[in-house]
Amino acid sequence: MMRIIRYFLVAALLLISIAGCSHFQGNRDVLFQTSTIGALLEGVYDGEITYAQLKRHGDFGIGTFNGLDGEMIGLEGRFYQIKADGKAYPVDDSMKTPFAVVNFFEPDKSAVLDKAEDLEQLEQFLDTLLPTKNIFYAIRIEGTFKYIKTRSVPGQNKPYPPLVEVVKNQPTFEFHNVKGTIVGFRCPGYVEGINVPGYHFHFITGDRKAGGHLLECHLEDVRIEVDYTSGFYMVLPKSEGFRKADLTRKKQKELKKVER
Ligand code: ZN
Repeated sequence: MMRIIRYFLVAALLLISIAGCSHFQGNRDVLFQTSTIGALLEGVYDGEITYAQLKRHGDFGIGTFNGLDGEMIGLEGRFYQIKADGKAYPVDDSMKTPFAVVNFFEPDKSAVLDKAEDLEQLEQFLDTLLPTKNIFYAIRIEGTFKYIKTRSVPGQNKPYPPLVEVVKNQPTFEFHNVKGTIVGFRCPGYVEGINVPGYHFHFITGDRKAGGHLLECHLEDVRIEVDYTSGFYMVLPKSEGFRKADLTRKKQKELKKVER
């Protein structure tokens, strides 16, 4: 009798563990991130993760490249590098990133926004779509934009300067009545030091030829999709640059300067 009960227990445990595994693999509501925004601010511009590896964790996202060589935007499984000339180039799988955030984009909510005169108004509207400010969101905004202003960053040489120094000379780009897509995330306030609290967007034109890190926008009649994301998975670099960086300083002011 005891033996039968033991067999039952073993079989039940096995079933539970198989179910658990498949549940984990099937869970695509996970934000994947490599390194931290704090490390990027400190000038840790080299990572070990290739875009081939990054793509296993998502088909949608934003980030940068080794040496801080431009802004990255990914959507529908295609990744682009927006260099300091403002132009978008396809990303080779062998390229590496020191900081990137991706997920598999599967929208939970969609809405149409008839008007936002600036980025602040857009963010206020987005706030009304969110059931809570305590989880992560991937956001995709598609349409024809009246006005878009972006920036990119030029590739850096060692010894790397901190990000706040680099953006002092950031090239900016303006677009008028342009078709395109805004891709980005909203992170909870408590991610400070790890990612950007609040919204962080990149933009790419409909013809996939230009874009950058979004600084300002004016829009009418755009379609918004939001993917609720309650999983978070971070991989830290093993590099000496990361190991030696001082990541204890608070950097809210620097972050504001580099993001806006
Ligand atoms: Zn950015």
